[in-house]
Amino acid sequence: MTSYDVIIIGAGPGGYVAAIRCAQLGLKTACVEGRETLGGTCLNVGCIPSKALLHASHQLHEAQHNFPKMGLKGKAPSVDWKAMLAYKDDVVGQNTKGIEFLFKKNKIDWLKGWGSIPEPGKVKVGDEVHETRNIIIATGSQSSSLPGVEVDEKIVVSSTGALELPKVPKKLAVIGAGVIGLELGSVYARLGSEVTVLEYLNHVTPGMDGEVQKTVQRMLKKQGLTFVLGAAVQGVETLKTKAKAKVNYTLRKDNSEHQLDADVVLVATGRRPYTDGLGLDALGVELSKGGQIRTDEHWQTSVKGIHAIGDAIAGPMLAHKAEDEGMAVAEVVAGKAGHVNYGVIPGVIYTHPEVASVGKTEEELKKEGRAYKVGKFSFMGNARAKAVFAGDGFVKLLADKETDRILGAHIIGPAAGDLIHEICVAMEFGAAAEDIALTCHAHPTYSEAVREAALACGDGPIHS
Ligand code: NAD
Repeated sequence: MTSYDVIIIGAGPGGYVAAIRCAQLGLKTACVEGRETLGGTCLNVGCIPSKALLHASHQLHEAQHNFPKMGLKGKAPSVDWKAMLAYKDDVVGQNTKGIEFLFKKNKIDWLKGWGSIPEPGKVKVGDEVHETRNIIIATGSQSSSLPGVEVDEKIVVSSTGALELPKVPKKLAVIGAGVIGLELGSVYARLGSEVTVLEYLNHVTPGMDGEVQKTVQRMLKKQGLTFVLGAAVQGVETLKTKAKAKVNYTLRKDNSEHQLDADVVLVATGRRPYTDGLGLDALGVELSKGGQIRTDEHWQTSVKGIHAIGDAIAGPMLAHKAEDEGMAVAEVVAGKAGHVNYGVIPGVIYTHPEVASVGKTEEELKKEGRAYKVGKFSFMGNARAKAVFAGDGFVKLLADKETDRILGAHIIGPAAGDLIHEICVAMEFGAAAEDIALTCHAHPTYSEAVREAALACGDGPIHS
């Protein structure tokens, strides 16, 4: 039995980042992971494989729709689904092996198997019990289904099954117009599926800026996705007929009952913390009603020496939030001051165009009664965006009415997921919109739209 300074349970973006930082800070570190490969949900069955499929299907869309407009002639490519899945698996493999390399480089022991905590200071993996001064729980989350909906990962699938369907379905029903529903719905719509998204709320992308919600729905509708809003899904029946499933739902506005036929049903109604088998009950680790591990501002649980981060605790279920907490908790365990600024955590949806946001939405500012101003700029006024058929969309900057301090930003448009970080950095420095407006931005770049939105908070943009 080896004795460690710290054992991290879970090697997703929260856990593996925590492990690397702990090792860099000189701690004898081990990380427990039961999957065959490191990287957790994000690298194996989440962010990374979905980005590969989004990229491949976007190339197809470009070839079908935009190549002829640029004078690129010839037959558009057809889909070899098996080869596309193999490409996706290769991307995943490169990334998971990369983490294995980083573990070796940083002398982190990978304890292979599923871990539990028999008592504080001990982690059990298989038959072996390891001693450790600190434990960090980074066990992530799992898809949560609905009552009356049984996920079999064949006909009724979670995001995991949706990444390895045997073929592209003719009709795909998506339950939930959140991040997963829209990203994977876009993939299959581009590959030729008839995609219908059923959403309980009266808008898509819960929690996002209202104007962005309307715009993203309009754009995805143009790309062939059908939306049924205000639809409460009651259950899914699987059948042995041609259409393999029937989704039963009620329209909330008049309580009328409806059915939707589909070959495959994707359940994308959220995720819940995964803490099964850790033995938290017996240890007395406190959980919230939603099953999240309760922590203090130093990611310490109710039991001394046991910390928790990522999807298993409160806050947005985002890989980069978990990574930030992973770095910060490592510093805390090493006796330093770890910090995460929860006010500046960007959120990105990797549809085309991308959707990105950080800080407050207009709706939140109104609720708070805060006086604010809006600087908005359409990508129609951005030369680079027009050159690549990406003029639809906008940058919207929200700043304090008195001080001009940036309070939030919402972008829908080309490379939104990268553009948002200029605003994140500005917010970290407590910048005013004028600071961005006065910064020279290279021409022609999409980032000029961010500057123009900042100019719109002051004397006005140039190109609108
Ligand atoms: P989500 O919470 O983003 O969206 C779930 C949607 O399902 C909501 O709009 C909800 O109203 C709807 N819904 C719930 N019950 C319903 C019902 N009975 N009938 C119809 N609609 C119903 O969840 P998700 O898309 O499953 O994603 C899970 C988590 O993973 C999220 O926290 C998300 O942020 C994260 N994630 C992030 C990314 C990214 O950052 N790009 C990608 C994938 C997943």
